[in-house]
Amino acid sequence: SNVRIENLNRDDELQELSTSLNLMLDRMQRYIDQQKEFVSDVSHELRTPVAVIEGHLGMLKRWGKDDPEILDESIDASLQEADRMKHLIQEMLDLTRAEQIDVQYPNAVTNVNEVLRRVAGDMAMVHNDFNIQLDMDDLPADTKIQMYSSHLEQVLIILIDNGIKYSTDLKQINISAGVSEQIVSIMVQDFGEGISEEDKTKIFNRFYRVDKARTREKGGNGLGLSIAQKLVSSYHGEISVDSVQGQGSQFKISFPVLSKAKAEELEKLDNE
Ligand code: ADP
Repeated sequence: SNVRIENLNRDDELQELSTSLNLMLDRMQRYIDQQKEFVSDVSHELRTPVAVIEGHLGMLKRWGKDDPEILDESIDASLQEADRMKHLIQEMLDLTRAEQIDVQYPNAVTNVNEVLRRVAGDMAMVHNDFNIQLDMDDLPADTKIQMYSSHLEQVLIILIDNGIKYSTDLKQINISAGVSEQIVSIMVQDFGEGISEEDKTKIFNRFYRVDKARTREKGGNGLGLSIAQKLVSSYHGEISVDSVQGQGSQFKISFPVLSKAKAEELEKLDNE
């Protein structure tokens, strides 16, 4: 019956209403602040490539007609910069999409073994100057997680790409995976420059780069790891890094493993 509602006096009700309204307003304000910050970050990041293109167009206008060398150089540099902007815009879209994942879809079942084999193979082919090792000794056959394969692939590619980008003499990447207590962990290890203690906490922030100028040369926007982190946490996973400066880094991602029964149930739903 509705005794409790009748007993609640008007003041209590109003109090409760205003508390929940205030909570909602706080949440909205936080959301608006985050959006503002994002727009401000993005504008800042786009300013550099636009300024570079502008500079080259100015050169072209002044000297391009008479100096074929400047003509070539400025056109090449502008094309390169436009390409970088395109890349940046794609990464920003990826980041926004990663924030909006709905893991309720039944067809989000990924066979970790298959994805690892595929990604490691593809990366080895693209980067044939690198030795890319895959060790699945501790990974039971057909380990499955609730995630879209394309998202696991995306995270792995970001981590392997970084390992390659920040490698030094030893051009080797070790990928390994294992399951313990129903958690699957995947490790991506490189033997490159490593990351300082201070930077370890910052590298997952969007647009953060340890060395802005040098990373820019390598085509980095500082978005890869924030995309990876968003993707991983959307699927109730975790991402962490272990690193010794000058010796290399190891990134680890982990996810809850689907029981056989649950995986079959989801796969059946997907086929309906
Ligand atoms: P970027 O596209 O610039 O590589 P990320 O978000 O992927 O952006 O990485 C942020 C920064 O973290 C990089 O600029 C780099 O300084 C550092 N970093 C990421 N991965 C590694 C790694 N494997 N070894 C050393 N530094 C790394």
